[in-house]
Amino acid sequence: MKDAALALIDIGANLTHESFRPDFDAVLERARAHGVDQVVVTGASAGSSRAAHALAQAHPGFLHATAGVHPHHAHEYDDATDELLRQLVATPEVKAVGETGLDYYRNYSPHAAQVAAFERQLAIALDCGKPLFLHQRDAHADFLACLDAVRGRIARAVVHCFTGERAELVDYLDRDCYIGITGWICDERRGQHLRELVRLVPADRLMIETDAPYLLPRDLHPKPSHRRNEPMYLAHVCAAVAAARGETIEQTAASTRANSRAFFTL
Ligand SMILES: [Zn+2]
Repeated sequence: MKDAALALIDIGANLTHESFRPDFDAVLERARAHGVDQVVVTGASAGSSRAAHALAQAHPGFLHATAGVHPHHAHEYDDATDELLRQLVATPEVKAVGETGLDYYRNYSPHAAQVAAFERQLAIALDCGKPLFLHQRDAHADFLACLDAVRGRIARAVVHCFTGERAELVDYLDRDCYIGITGWICDERRGQHLRELVRLVPADRLMIETDAPYLLPRDLHPKPSHRRNEPMYLAHVCAAVAAARGETIEQTAASTRANSRAFFTL
């Protein structure tokens, strides 16, 4: 395997997840051995944002953090959360505001609470000037309306784990958003449309991510005995994206890396 020859940046890994606690250092070792030399650790709640920041502090230059509240946790968003996020995004380790957005698929929080939390985090991004790490599922119209309200005033935005349809992709690209692609593209059933759509993403708007511990690529051989995804599999995602786009792995690795460094100022 020549993964180590690549230099990859995982823009979305939930390394604060409890499943990583038993072997955290080994997870980082394996990531490095498979060419991943920087990881942006996703903050998705008050607690995990604080934890992501601590991880980035403990691993300078290798781990970075975002700070935000995922729409699943929007009902927890209060003034104290807002204050905490504002403190975290002011630190050098936190590179983006998010994960934030709307998720009307799971509906773990009421729509009104999701919109309110999203709007407050958009306001944080406006104030701090850092880019946005965004999540959208089954909420495209409301999501666009929120984004359009701040259009032209936010620094940059990435729609992470894009799995949507062509019209959604076009809307994001029209708004100059970056697109994050996960191992969803490796799924023979659900990922087929994504292999065609990913060709439409300009090379300077594309980034890659594992979304670990979620979204273990379905076509790994051999399959790990556990079902946990981890950053070491980013090279596998990169290869799938490259194949879909008709690029070499090295080309996709280089362009997504350059985009990630510019986007997150790594
Ligand atoms: Zn997400």
